[in-house]
Amino acid sequence: MWVEQLLPLVLDEGVSTVILASDDEATTRRFAEEVVPALRDATARGRAAAGTDTGRVVPAAVRARRRAGIAYDAVPPSLAERAVEPGDAAHVAVRSTYLRGGAPGLVLRPRDTAEVVEALAFARAQEVTRRVPLSIRSGGHGISGRSTNDGGIVVDLGALDAIEVLDERERLVRLGPGARWATSPPRSRRAAGRSRPATSAASASADSRRRAASASSGARTG
Ligand SMILES: Cc1cc2nc3c(=O)[nH]c(=O)nc-3n(C[C@H](O)[C@H](O)[C@H](O)COP(=O)(O)OP(=O)(O)OC[C@H]3O[C@@H](n4cnc5c(N)ncnc54)[C@H](O)[C@@H]3O)c2cc1C
Repeated sequence: MWVEQLLPLVLDEGVSTVILASDDEATTRRFAEEVVPALRDATARGRAAAGTDTGRVVPAAVRARRRAGIAYDAVPPSLAERAVEPGDAAHVAVRSTYLRGGAPGLVLRPRDTAEVVEALAFARAQEVTRRVPLSIRSGGHGISGRSTNDGGIVVDLGALDAIEVLDERERLVRLGPGARWATSPPRSRRAAGRSRPATSAASASADSRRRAASASSGARTG
């Protein structure tokens, strides 16, 4: 009933925020748990049926801070939602690494191998990568500063943070490049035999780095 009443306001009038004026706990709970999800679903269905473009809208202030040599509007849809550019609020959190200040023109944050492939293909096609070397970032703890840059593209692998215990007895684990000790499950830390709260799991020491290979291969640690 509520959804039927609210849906035209959202779809036809462009209302984007609905506020419930009630102190009643049961009503509030019902609104949050039933009405809001149902309204979101109905809105998505209505927009899909009408062919409404629901892509990210980039404000003029953000566009004004774009850097040269990057076709921002051509970022693949799978990456665009999580991409960060200089005018975005999230830029401050991804621009620099642990030791180095940076001001990348675009940070792509793929979530799986297919998106990494897309990110690299996109970056390779950009004029900027002929001037500013592409930066790959795993933990962002490296000393060289090459996992950020000024005006170029960063491919941030932080979301690929899976840690898979392949064989606890043999102490065999597979680390995603973005895996960090702080967020690794205790079982995998036990298997790896170390605990370092701030660093990336793959960078705890030169020794473990040597043994802990890549996201795609098993790594023996100790
Ligand atoms: C305070 C401090 C203490 C440290 N202590 C140690 C130590 O005890 N032992 C030790 O060995 N090192 C140590 N280091 C160095 C650092 O931890 C290592 O350089 C480590 O490799 C950084 O890993 P990262 O994934 O965080 O690096 P990032 O900064 O993400 O990357 C480092 C370099 O590798 C490249 N890169 C990152 N991910 C990939 C990828 N998936 N594929 C290809 N290239 C990639 C980046 O472009 C960059 O050039 C220390 C650094 C700091 C700041």
